[in-house]
Amino acid sequence: MFPVMLSLRGHSVLVVGAGEVALRKIEALLAEGAVPTAVAPEAAPGVDDLARRGAIELRRRRYRAGDVAGFTLVFAATDDRAVNAAVFAEARDAGVWVNVADDPELCTFHLPARVQRGGLQLAIASNGGAPFVVRRLRQMLELGFGPEWSEWMEAATRFRQEVRALGLPRAASERRYDAFFAASVDAARLRARVPGAAELAEWLAPRRDDAPGRPAPRPSAGALLPFAPRAGQVPGPRPGLVSLVGAGPGDPGLLTVRARQRVLSADAIVYDRLAATALPCDLSAAVELHCVGKEAGRHPVPQEEINALLVRLALAGKRTVRFKGGDPFVFGRGGEEAEALRSAGVPYEVVPGVTAALGATACAGIPVTHRGESVRLTLVTAHESAKGDGRQVRWDLLAQDPHATLVGYMGVSSLPDVAERLVAAGMAASTPAALVAQGTTARQRAVVSTLGGLHAAGVAAGIRPPAIFVIGPTVRHAAALDWFASRPLAGERLGVFAPATELGPALDLAGADLLEMPRPLTPAARVVIGAAPVTGWILRSAEDVEALEEERSLPGWDDEMRACCLGTAAAGRAQALGWRHVVELGGGAGPAAVIAALADRDPRAACDAARSS
Ligand code: SAH
Repeated sequence: MFPVMLSLRGHSVLVVGAGEVALRKIEALLAEGAVPTAVAPEAAPGVDDLARRGAIELRRRRYRAGDVAGFTLVFAATDDRAVNAAVFAEARDAGVWVNVADDPELCTFHLPARVQRGGLQLAIASNGGAPFVVRRLRQMLELGFGPEWSEWMEAATRFRQEVRALGLPRAASERRYDAFFAASVDAARLRARVPGAAELAEWLAPRRDDAPGRPAPRPSAGALLPFAPRAGQVPGPRPGLVSLVGAGPGDPGLLTVRARQRVLSADAIVYDRLAATALPCDLSAAVELHCVGKEAGRHPVPQEEINALLVRLALAGKRTVRFKGGDPFVFGRGGEEAEALRSAGVPYEVVPGVTAALGATACAGIPVTHRGESVRLTLVTAHESAKGDGRQVRWDLLAQDPHATLVGYMGVSSLPDVAERLVAAGMAASTPAALVAQGTTARQRAVVSTLGGLHAAGVAAGIRPPAIFVIGPTVRHAAALDWFASRPLAGERLGVFAPATELGPALDLAGADLLEMPRPLTPAARVVIGAAPVTGWILRSAEDVEALEEERSLPGWDDEMRACCLGTAAAGRAQALGWRHVVELGGGAGPAAVIAALADRDPRAACDAARSS
């Protein structure tokens, strides 16, 4: 079999049959710009529909000898083998390529299985010998190649055009393609990222090893940026796109696909403390990181300064990500940032995120709506009640709605005041109510009580911000729907050096926050480690242990950290360095053994358990 990619744009293609199989072929052909004609006495509704809209020609009759004449390709997909065989024989004799669905004998060409990421296509075929492996390989590649490859392919296409426009000798162009590929593709993990504008500009810049004596022209910076200039824009480098990205409530697994893609292809990231745990650890060290959130003992950067920083980075031509906890537009001042960018003429976009009200409740087992119990969800900022006369929030109206869920942000300190107002306005003090702190993360704490008792319960449990309060009838489900905290590794924040291989998904399912760390650690990885205590590390070699030992003075290092060592080399090194809680497992220990060893909260008991197993 000889593989080809056909350009079918404008070509006439005959499809014999008009059932569901034929419909899928017709749709695929239309997507490639082919001109399909279908022949069949009866047609599936989808085919009928396409014919009615004029997208295809439908000959509503049986197939006749002579029908194949004039077509580039023929597909037969009828349920009548005799018809299929006749189509095949006629097409073959007329020199027209023919494919009969599910009948390899009656084909002069086969269709490979494919995995498509935008312009990137991976085709899989087995010469017809073992279709079962084709199906499984396709599934494997579907999972392996993430959606980011689509944007990567677009970036590669744009990059090639830029390189070609430079008119360089072949070797000089190849060096640029090498740089692009090496920096944007992680071959071992099949991951890709879209390079940032600054990286692209660097690769395109003239190099000393370009053709001697010929100065290479500068690339047009404009072609590197996703947007055309707007009327009235200031001269100078075209501003970089600013993405206002929702980082979700803290669990890195709740970052959206687009958020991850934007972060990985940024030149600069301006992040809040609350968002830090969701930063990808494999972020390139070349990316500028600006922390503007509250840090212990430091005041947060004022909003005007954040706006100015975003504008400054963008005007320097940098692709910038404003990385914000939860969703940018939910009590996040994202609207103000968008306004500032707009008035500075800077292009921007908003990437929504999972807001705390949805993330923290889901992980506390509180359905925010529930049939027959709660038909409305209100998000409020409880801060407002404490400020001025607090009239912006109509607590009196909220108090009158028993079939609703009320979620309050920034509510820990104002809770007594809010509860008092709600009860005064007629809400029952016995209404179920909860506080959820650090929701979705390993450090999540939830306290369930009543409206009247919640503040005292929160104080007794030592609940501290960031936390939301939830008031409403569905809070009573929290105990029964406690899926989150009942998982074996709930509360564990575990580090492992990449690749985590099969441990990754297994530890995640068991409830741990898993940090898959590059070795050596990148600046972003250090920010992530410092954002919350890491309760344990899984170490496979003495080198893993050494790499970690060098980081022990960093913020976020926890002396109670457990070192789960796979193999005697790692364990011996950790013990020699005087680490306190070393759990030794065999070098080949699988996910089940690691989970069993770590599920025990007492490190010494875990040690014993691991030894006796
Ligand atoms: N834009 C964010 C909210 C920012 S305001 C969002 O959409 O979630 C900050 C407040 O959000 C905190 O005071 C707290 O009330 C809430 N919050 C943020 N992350 C949280 C989390 N993981 N668990 C509980 N509350 C959280």
